[in-house]
Amino acid sequence: MVTEEEIKKGKVTDVYFARTVKILKSKGLDKVNVSMEVSAHSIPRGWSWGVLAGVEELANLLEGVDVDCYCMEEGEIFTPEIPVALIKGEYGKFAIYETSILGLLSQPSGVATTAAHVKLAAQGKPVVNFGIRRMHPGISLSIERASIIGGCDGSSGILLEELGLKPVGTMPHALILIFGNQAEAWKAFDEVLPEDIPRVALVDTYWDEKAEAILAAKTLGERLYAVRLDTPRSRRGKMVDIVREVRWELDSRGFKNVKIFVSGGLDDKKVKELSEAGADAFGVGTFITNAETVDFGMDIVAVEGKPRSKRGKLSGEKQVYRCPECFRMIVTRWGDRSIVCKQCGAEMEPLLKPLVIRGKIVRDKRDITDVRSRVLEKIEMVKDREIKVLYEV
Ligand SMILES: [Zn+2]
Repeated sequence: MVTEEEIKKGKVTDVYFARTVKILKSKGLDKVNVSMEVSAHSIPRGWSWGVLAGVEELANLLEGVDVDCYCMEEGEIFTPEIPVALIKGEYGKFAIYETSILGLLSQPSGVATTAAHVKLAAQGKPVVNFGIRRMHPGISLSIERASIIGGCDGSSGILLEELGLKPVGTMPHALILIFGNQAEAWKAFDEVLPEDIPRVALVDTYWDEKAEAILAAKTLGERLYAVRLDTPRSRRGKMVDIVREVRWELDSRGFKNVKIFVSGGLDDKKVKELSEAGADAFGVGTFITNAETVDFGMDIVAVEGKPRSKRGKLSGEKQVYRCPECFRMIVTRWGDRSIVCKQCGAEMEPLLKPLVIRGKIVRDKRDITDVRSRVLEKIEMVKDREIKVLYEV
């Protein structure tokens, strides 16, 4: 595996950057000052907005590199084509970091964006990331962090404790298969594990979900928090109908407080359908952990302070302002100024703020729970509206 040290040394780089630096050095051009902008061409799956993640790692990468970086906050909502970061300095000092800068933002932002859209589909109900088994273990914590920034209520990896969070999980089929009997396995789970772990019984191992759900409710009584349906694909039929049936049968026997947790092959659309059918919580794996990455690119927009860009790219350093009331955004030339929203009269806020100045991190690290709760507020604001982006020099 690549080590953190190798990434910090700029070893994770496309060879053409290393070659470019060599050419520029030999011609005395490596000290030319450039301003580069990071922006996405599109948001995965045709969604209209994404959630930015990886900002803290970007700061760690640029610490000690003699550049200035202005960037949106971790968990900020962004749309295609607007700058999410502006990095400036001598090109020779940071050219070899472009590959890692983009990777540190593209993948976590894809995960956070997907998690946010699943969380909205769940209509406020809990969504847990169960998918770290689908990706390289070396990046599991980064993926879990991004999924929580995007709005997941928890994730299953025990290393999450390094981020000050408790891992979330129920029980695997292996536990029930080794006991050879569902009820004995559920009882053992209840006897052995600490009280603060919710009693969630997996109810699809040997029999029908309805029969096992009733058995679990009778076996653990008041102590049963939820039943989990992880029905195999070959038996799935219509999951919506299974959830509705299990809910009905539990309710009609007086087990209204037992919740229904669904996992296995879920995406945003299925989560929405199941939520409407009566499911209370969702374990989502591959759809979140293997999320499409955001296609961030990094382009020169100014050379020695003067606007210069490739065709198709607006030249000059830019700031993005957003109205806190109606979420309208304005992309405008860089500089301190106050802009009032033409739609609702509110003072608009600049989104690109100092992150690293001359190689020093100038932004405090934020608690991940705090980042997540602000993301939840913002996605509630943007869920039913089109985010208008205006361009005004
Ligand atoms: Zn406004």
